[in-house]
Amino acid sequence: MKRSIEKVFRGAPEHWVGDGFHVSNYFPGATDFQKRMSPFFLMDYQKPELFEPTGRRRGVGTHPHRGFETVSIAFEGAVAHRDSAGNGGVIRPNEVQWMTAGKGILHNEYHEEGFAKAGGVMHFIQIWVNLPRKNKLAAPHYQALTDGIIAAAPLAGGKGLVRVIAGAYEGVQGPARTFTPVQMLDLRLKPEARVRLPTPKDYNTALLVLTGTVKTNGSAALSAGECVLFRNDGDEVVVESSADSIVMFLSGAPIDEPLVHYGPFVMNSVDEINEAIEDFNGGKFGALSD
Ligand code: MN
Repeated sequence: MKRSIEKVFRGAPEHWVGDGFHVSNYFPGATDFQKRMSPFFLMDYQKPELFEPTGRRRGVGTHPHRGFETVSIAFEGAVAHRDSAGNGGVIRPNEVQWMTAGKGILHNEYHEEGFAKAGGVMHFIQIWVNLPRKNKLAAPHYQALTDGIIAAAPLAGGKGLVRVIAGAYEGVQGPARTFTPVQMLDLRLKPEARVRLPTPKDYNTALLVLTGTVKTNGSAALSAGECVLFRNDGDEVVVESSADSIVMFLSGAPIDEPLVHYGPFVMNSVDEINEAIEDFNGGKFGALSD
């Protein structure tokens, strides 16, 4: 049965993250989203935007995270990152970086040098996926999901692809290892595509239109930047496109635990937040230079 639509909304007015990412925040924003989008905690979206050539390093300098995972996806542009666990690399178009901050990590995120010098369009999204209490202090870890290892299920009639980042679609399994059940799909639709996405009724579920025009589960035509939150009253979402479109589909089993958020830390209690601040100030997140 098709889910009904709880809300169609756009993100908040754009703000800068460092000087590299001009993003619109979709959630948490309203507090209710902590409950309605769990296990997803935050979504910041950089719509396609031209950056002029620069010799400057644009981005976000070294900062900590604890208690969750950051999922960074480049659609256009290139983002270089390094972290205190010794990982580093460049996220290029169609690539995903799935970073487990767990017990604590320092990292920085910059426009890749060659991209910055040449200038170009940056199109990027970052989604925070919460960790359950028992995994909040997991060892920091990093999965580089390059284009070639992201499984893609072709739609009938050459109508596009479902790129499976996490979870499964039509028996195609995504490469991301997750701590709780998560379905994260990147839909690349040609005009007149129709995709049926089964998802368990209790999973919190939303989609974001990145480009193009789609309808879903009885909605009006949706354009770029519109996000749909579905009610947990059915087990399928149907997406129909009327133009070349990119859609991010997020669905996951809620983590039903208390949540306390302070800046880059997402924990279960105020005491744990204070501990995170103490550990960070005490150098327990390791060391990383800009
Ligand atoms: Mn970060």
